Formats: sequence, C-alpha cells, structure tokens
Amino acid sequence: MRRIYMDNAATTPVHPEVLEAMLPYFKEGFGNPSSIYQEGREARKAIEAAREKVAQALGAESSEIFFTSGGTEADNLAVLGVARANAKKGNHIVTSAIEHHAVLEPCHWLEKEGFRITRLPVDSGGLVDPDDVRKALTGSTILVSIMHANNEVGSIEPIEEISQVCREAGVLLHSDAVQSMGQLDVNVDKLGVDLLTATGHKIYGPKGTGCLYMRKRTKLQGLMLGGGQEKRVRSGTENVAGIIGFGKAMELAGAGWKERSEHMLPLRDRLIEGLLEGIPYTELNGDRHRRLPNNANVRFKFIEGEAICLRLDYLGIAASTGSACSSDSLEASHVLLALGIPIEEAHGSLRLTLGRENTAEDVDYVLEKLPGVIESLRAMSPLYPGH
Ligand SMILES: *Cc1c(COP(=O)(O)O)cnc(C)c1O
Repeated sequence: MRRIYMDNAATTPVHPEVLEAMLPYFKEGFGNPSSIYQEGREARKAIEAAREKVAQALGAESSEIFFTSGGTEADNLAVLGVARANAKKGNHIVTSAIEHHAVLEPCHWLEKEGFRITRLPVDSGGLVDPDDVRKALTGSTILVSIMHANNEVGSIEPIEEISQVCREAGVLLHSDAVQSMGQLDVNVDKLGVDLLTATGHKIYGPKGTGCLYMRKRTKLQGLMLGGGQEKRVRSGTENVAGIIGFGKAMELAGAGWKERSEHMLPLRDRLIEGLLEGIPYTELNGDRHRRLPNNANVRFKFIEGEAICLRLDYLGIAASTGSACSSDSLEASHVLLALGIPIEEAHGSLRLTLGRENTAEDVDYVLEKLPGVIESLRAMSPLYPGH
C-alpha cells in the first residue's frame, strides 16, 4: 500500500545527495582524522570542509562549529557546559516551559545542583514574550535558552527581540534551531544568538549527527572527557561519514530553506483549513500565523490522539500525537498544557508535519480519510454529544 509520511518533525529520510556524499567514508575514506598519515589527513580534510559548509549555512565561522551526536547532545552541552564554566559568575538560567526535553532535563539536573531555573510561560499560541525574559533576568543570570521554533506546535519564537534583551544585560543566549533549520533563515548574527543547536536527521541528514554553534570567546565546559577532539569541547573519534552527511544536509538546508518553505506553506494551509472546516469540534494548536511552514497540529475533542494515529497508520498515513518523544508515555504533552489547553483536549491532538516529498495529493488523501476516522472514533466515545 502507498505510504504517506507526515511526521517530518520526528525525523526525515536521508537526501540522496547526502547518502552519496557519505558513502566513500564507509569505504576507502575510513581513516582516523587524528592520524598523521594520508588516510587520516584525508578524513581530517573532509571534516574541515564539512565544518566550513555548516558554518556557511549558519552565517558563522568554522571555528565556531562543534560536531556532536545530534540535537540532544548539543542542547545538553549548551546548558550544562555554560552552567559549569560560568558558575562563578552566577547560578540562574532562564528557559521556557515549551522547550524540548533535551533542554528541560539538563535544567532540572542543574536545579538539583543548586542552580535556579526560571521557566517562562507562553501565550495560547505558544509564544514567549521578550518582556518576560527582561523581567526574569537578575544579576546572577548566566544563560537564556529559548528555542527558535517548537517541535510540537511549530510556534516561531521572537529570538531577535529576546537577543536584544540578553545583549543589553550581557547574558548568553542559546537557541535550539533543530526544527527551524531548513525551513527558516537560521543565521546566528541575524538571530543574535551565542549558542545554537542543529541536528542532521530532521533536515534529511543521518541520525546521530549534529552540532553546537558557539560564538567566539564563549566559555563552555565539555561533557565528554578523553582524547580532546573538537578543541577539547567534545572528545571522541569523529563520526566521519556522519559529519560529511551532516555537512551536506546543512548545505542543502541553508541554500534551500526558502524553496522548501514555499513548497510546504500552501500544503500546510490547505491541510489546516481542510481539517478545521471539514471536521466539527476541531481546533488548531499553536499560533495560526507565527508557525513553521510544515506544521499542522490540531485537537479533536472527545477522542484520543493515539487511537487516531493507529487508524491513520492502518490507512497508510504516518503521523504523531503531540510529540513523538512523549508518545510512549501516557502523560499529556508539556507543550500543549503550557499553551493552556485542557488536559483531556490535549490528549486528542494530532500533529502532521510536512516534508519536501509531500504533495497536494498527499494532503487531499489525508483530508479525505480523516473525517471518517474521527467520526468512527467519536461514535464509540461516551463523551461525544452526538452520541
Ligand atoms: C528532535 C529534537 C531534538 C533532539 O535532537 P536529536 O538529534 O534527535 O537528539 C532537540 N530539539 C528539538 C526541538 C527537536 O525537535
């Protein structure tokens, strides 16, 4: 049966050009980049070329790029690394209630070590108010970490304005740009960030690859201790093929974000309008306009998102409820709850995230199948008024 993949916020297929670029490094290009002979020197050269591509995609310098095993490691490195290197200056960190767990969990860990964490609320659209950031800053604040775009509801945060606030106060700003990469202009100078997270597998690159951008002269303590690779920030023999693939994926994302978003935006709008108009008791999660061009997230009252996803899977459609990361737990998504959505409604949420391969026919197929799925699930729900 034909499969329609609409969970591109969870992961994406590897781009053919990315795979092509990686293959030689599983074969003759197997050298250890720290070795001084030819095989090693060639691997080193390839890594540095990839670093240059990543830097160019972000408007950064290559010396400011540190390769990691992905978004989770880069987020951990930013939060824990800045906290540990700057603990003498202060012990306060500001973040938001809707960050990815890869930011929230290290913050929670630091709290147990004596740091103070402020988790800013968001409005009903999922947006942080820069004025709230200003009010939260104290003399002991060492880091603000606010994501560029949210992985569940797609809200695009006002990072430029938040950066102004942080600059005035002399506080470092980290932003998780895992979801905005390849969909928005992710330029570290335009955004005004000091640290930024990117990952490969959400932008048609390989899993287990990514980077932390760190502005020159930022103080940070590495998490991995060992051979001192990546200028002692991230020890461990480099994932050469992965880094090459990540470099290619970042190059394509940096050059192609406009084209990709122009492709997805009309599909997203057709999907959102179709769902809201075609199915009763349905509401949009997140801001209607300040959202990623690939994100449609709605909630259907009286039913469970998990049941919807299973039915859709059976019909050949891959989608997720709330967040893929929380779909194996029964807790409602912390993001949807932070938007003020009642817990029982949050459970009825469905996230459809488009990718470069989706077409108008895909959207029409989903819009054709979903009303029947929702209707039949509601027919079994004791909560449904039409029951
Ligand atoms: C997927 C994701 C991460 C984690 O990245 P991995 O590479 O899967 O570790 C972090 N932040 C956001 C916003 C994400 O969507």
